[in-house]
Amino acid sequence: MDPMFSPALHRQRHEFVIDFVRSYKPKKVVDLGCSECSLLKQLKFHLEIELLAGVDIDGAILKKKMCGLAPLSTDYLQPRNDQLRIDLYQGSVTQKDARLIGFDLVTSIELIEHLTLADVKLFSEVVFGYMTPVAVIVSTPNADFNPLFRRMSGFRHSDHKFEWSRAEFKSWALKVCLDYGYEVEFSGVGQAPPGYQENVGFCSQIGVFHRLGVSEVCNTLCSTDAEDVSSYTLLYSKIFPSLRDNNILRRVLASEVLYWAEKLGRRWVEEKTGVKDDADTPDQAGGDGEERHRAPENPLQLEEKQTAACGAAMKSLVEHQEVGKLDRELFWTDGGGQQESRKLGRCVSVPLFVLWGCCPKICTLSGSLSNLRQLLMDNAKVKLTQDGSALLLNLDEQDEEDHDFEDSGYADAMRCPHSVEPEEDWDANV
Ligand code: SAM
Repeated sequence: MDPMFSPALHRQRHEFVIDFVRSYKPKKVVDLGCSECSLLKQLKFHLEIELLAGVDIDGAILKKKMCGLAPLSTDYLQPRNDQLRIDLYQGSVTQKDARLIGFDLVTSIELIEHLTLADVKLFSEVVFGYMTPVAVIVSTPNADFNPLFRRMSGFRHSDHKFEWSRAEFKSWALKVCLDYGYEVEFSGVGQAPPGYQENVGFCSQIGVFHRLGVSEVCNTLCSTDAEDVSSYTLLYSKIFPSLRDNNILRRVLASEVLYWAEKLGRRWVEEKTGVKDDADTPDQAGGDGEERHRAPENPLQLEEKQTAACGAAMKSLVEHQEVGKLDRELFWTDGGGQQESRKLGRCVSVPLFVLWGCCPKICTLSGSLSNLRQLLMDNAKVKLTQDGSALLLNLDEQDEEDHDFEDSGYADAMRCPHSVEPEEDWDANV
């Protein structure tokens, strides 16, 4: 019986790249022959990547699949700290384009076997000699493995121009290293059945190249060749929301501040009145409020820590209030006539320094108390006291959640289905 792979071989190849990305944390990654963008779709979740590009000669497939790269609603709800731009180009890897110079990682997964040998030579020149990335991952079928596919005749795919044995791949890779100043390690994915591995190797063979003497290679090759060559067509370019964008930073900070102010305000009212607030407060609900404030890493611990900090701050504040030291300076409710008090009884004023002390995320986002004040000013959703030292909050109004995300990309993300289309059958069995 022909070997079957689990997980599927194409997934194992992508997982190999992702493991590399996890270890080396490249900031700029380009996938050559990206086809349906499935590797790019996984790489965009790696927060250290700031520029992600894909190149394929087949513009139709890129156009069909590119909407799957758009930011998701979660990218708007929890913007990244650093920017991510995704660019997709239609073009041939046999041609130079200056926009692809200087990447940290170039991947070429099951691409070279679709090129003629003359084009493989051009590919080597373009990738190793012109783009001069720090690392390159090249995968290609291993012809030594093919006899294990008993029902297969010829190549694994009708578009393959060749399939190299391990010795042929090694010989090409070593020549590339010699010509362009790289070193290579050989590896692969798709284990042979027990007892065969030694003789046939992996089903997909992989070379991982690292540039030697970074500055020499870059200096000689970047400066001579880099002039304004742009032979590729940019089909898609999207900048993901990030906290580097001041408008987004203000929005996220305001939402964080309102969340904690509401939380503190409600507790304070409870303490003062002895009446339990059964409103759907963010810490009680499992809905949007809580979702929105979960950090991607270790959310439960973070939430617990913040709630504990909030509790401690409340305790100390209430104690202060009881001894009458800080009274209205810290929290304030309207104490007017009967009617008014019913209407305004759940208005509180929460000092910014209290919020600062309660929520580490507010500290991180704003940097300083005066920045916090500055960033909250002119925000229509945030009402500050006249001297700007505290936030005024009407708890009765606060229950309405704000889902108004201004960037039209949000709507794009909602429009584009991400998983409905079947994948192209590049390697039905391998
Ligand atoms: N890398 C993809 C993956 O891992 O899912 C699969 C690649 S698919 C087997 C080969 C891709 O190479 C096709 O999308 C094809 O259009 C592209 N291709 C072929 N010749 C090319 C060239 N000269 N320049 C760029 N892309 C090319």
